Amino acid sequence: MEKNDKIYVAGHRGLVGGAIVRNLRSRGFGNLLMRSSAELDLRCQRAVEDFFAAERPDYVFLAAAKVGGILANDTYPADFIRDNLQMEVNVIDAAHRAGVRKLCFLGSSCIYPKFAPQPMKEEHLLTGELEPTNEWYAVAKIAGIKMCQAYRRQYGFNAIAVMPTNLYGPGDNFDLSGSHVLPALLRKFHEAKQAGEPEVVVWGTGTPRREFLHVDDMADACVHLMEVYEGENIVNVGVGEDVTIAELAGLVGQVVGYTGRIVYDASKPDGTPRKLLDVTRLAATGWRAHIGLAEGITSTYAWYLEHLGGRA
Ligand code: GDP
Repeated sequence: MEKNDKIYVAGHRGLVGGAIVRNLRSRGFGNLLMRSSAELDLRCQRAVEDFFAAERPDYVFLAAAKVGGILANDTYPADFIRDNLQMEVNVIDAAHRAGVRKLCFLGSSCIYPKFAPQPMKEEHLLTGELEPTNEWYAVAKIAGIKMCQAYRRQYGFNAIAVMPTNLYGPGDNFDLSGSHVLPALLRKFHEAKQAGEPEVVVWGTGTPRREFLHVDDMADACVHLMEVYEGENIVNVGVGEDVTIAELAGLVGQVVGYTGRIVYDASKPDGTPRKLLDVTRLAATGWRAHIGLAEGITSTYAWYLEHLGGRA
């Protein structure tokens, strides 16, 4: 990519899209194209075609998606599968037609089978049953991967697909009913400290293992892969290490400065026992994560205090 190439970041108001915009700017890319969903509804084929025909971007990061936690996925399966399929089909097809040089599609680690061996390798895709609670989202993301592969094979369209592990960072969702564990714990510990409560309740047994990648690392990996990676094989993006939920709770407690007790509510679900990506393919491209978990939690807590802490 050249510094003045026109780069369209779809989903720039989201957690990942926002981080991609920050990363591109920090590397000196200034010709960025962005549209809010009010300005451009990516579910509308005509609007997307007109946008690409008029703007003719050189590169596209497809970070727009309808996302949500376990509850939202379970409650609105039709919205999740329809909105995501529509956005992928419209953007990938219009990008190809408008002569985009390269597109980076963002998937998710939930595309892998529920019982995939750990750490999960790229070749485990489509080897078993999906986790039922988010299969609507997962099937749409798998369709997006297959769109990229099919357009590469049939039209020679240069599309790559990257699969991030659990992400966190500034701009995350801290709403306790819909958030993932890391922002949920940051908020719970913060509020318990403020209120002087003697204990914080963590869901489940504390034994499940999860991998956490800071979204700024994810954005850096996406831009790196856009520059160096070619091919139809998908690429996992993670740190290659996981922690138990109990270890995570301990770290969050330390960062927040909470001195009370941590108790576990085993009536809440643990979910899958382990979710860790194999990052051998990513490492072979010369990239690795740089933001350690303690450092990442610290900067995310600072962001939370500045943006939401007073009101949360
Ligand atoms: P998952 O990675 O798809 O299972 O999604 P989550 O990030 O929501 O949950 C990861 C693990 O953290 C599960 O074992 C949860 O039970 C556990 N957990 C502990 N406390 C919380 C909490 O307050 N919120 C959430 N979302 N998960 C929690």
